[in-house]
Amino acid sequence: TSADVVILGAGPAGLTLGNLLHAAGIDCVVLERADRAHVRTRARAGFLAANTVRILERHGLADGLHRRGHPHGTCEFRTGNGSFRLDYGTLGRGERHTVYPQQDLVTDLLTHYLDAGGRIRFETEARSVREVTGPRPTVDVREADGRPGRWRARYVAGCDGRHGAARRSLPASALRHHRDHGVTWLGLLAEAPPSLDAVGYAMHPDGFAGHMARTADITRYYLQYEPGVPGDAWSEERIWAALDRRMYTAEHGPLHHGRIVQRSVINLESDVVEPLRHGSLLLAGDAASLPAPAAAKGANLAVLEAELLAEALIDEFSRSDSRALDRYSRRCLDHIWRAQEFAHWMIQLLHAPAGADAESFFHEAMRRSRVESLRTSRTHQDWFAENYVGI
Ligand code: FAD
Repeated sequence: TSADVVILGAGPAGLTLGNLLHAAGIDCVVLERADRAHVRTRARAGFLAANTVRILERHGLADGLHRRGHPHGTCEFRTGNGSFRLDYGTLGRGERHTVYPQQDLVTDLLTHYLDAGGRIRFETEARSVREVTGPRPTVDVREADGRPGRWRARYVAGCDGRHGAARRSLPASALRHHRDHGVTWLGLLAEAPPSLDAVGYAMHPDGFAGHMARTADITRYYLQYEPGVPGDAWSEERIWAALDRRMYTAEHGPLHHGRIVQRSVINLESDVVEPLRHGSLLLAGDAASLPAPAAAKGANLAVLEAELLAEALIDEFSRSDSRALDRYSRRCLDHIWRAQEFAHWMIQLLHAPAGADAESFFHEAMRRSRVESLRTSRTHQDWFAENYVGI
């Protein structure tokens, strides 16, 4: 039970990294807490940035998304004062998203990795990473049969998300920047075709509502939600009534209703661990930084960081050149903070301040002005497009 690189987590970050390292002939293994079926079906992201697609293409990992994904370049903002559309695919750098469900991407990455002979252990939970300051870090695990085990490595890649073992094993010197945006969403997957040919962002006095296409039969919706209320507190009727009202369907036409097949409460929080490297422990994806999902950046950052980390580890193992590993954290943090800033901007655009005092009134007036500027200023629209689809 040893490998040169032990990768924790089989999400977009861990599986991209595993594919790239294995293709370069580097001895690696992926340890994944969940079982195979869970990994292949966990529905989360859906909007892949152009750069993410380029990375996957570069490494021969984009066949599935080219076959089944579809390009997307329009969003629509709805307010009490009407609506406007931005064809962001023709603004900024002229880049589009590819809509491709995260579980399909993960399934493709997993299939490719296994077909190439990559090693993975499902139902193997990393408990802690030890001796990260030395040349032989170890990972203590609980094996699929419940027994404790230990893996030895040269490097450990922490791709096991925000609540994983990598984060729990960070030395005290690691900085954790955290922000709670004070906004909660109810994330929904509805068994219904998309109702708009655009991403829909609705700003209503009752709160935010969002619409995002996934497939021909499944649509993701978000509803701003009372913090602390359990996700199952609202009936489907109440959810659809709220979506209809907040999406201003009386003016813009009805939504396709359908069974709600998944719901989750999402507190909009952002965090960043700094630096991303602690000796022989390297973080990537949500383990390194969680951008609040308002800007759809998490999976895209995960793939970008996985490529940068793979390149750095390949330099280290093939040429004993550690310069890219030394630069890894700094390079990622530049992208991470850009994504964090834009997610923060989106949250402030989409949500009214909670209070009814003078301060809240001031912030609400600024927010309305921001929306108006986005509606009318080509320069502002170019900036939006560049940040919205860029990474
Ligand atoms: P994960 O996908 O979380 O994978 C981590 C893996 O590690 C999991 O398989 C987990 O089981 C495993 N693991 C955890 N702990 C352990 C352990 N101790 N030992 C072993 N394995 C472990 N991002 C976008 O870019 N675009 C979007 O449109 C978008 N929409 C989203 C919508 C929702 C509702 C949510 C919740 C997120 C969304 N995101 C989006 C964010 C995106 O899903 C994540 O950023 C992305 O999954 C991060 O990938 P990852 O590989 O770092 O982590």
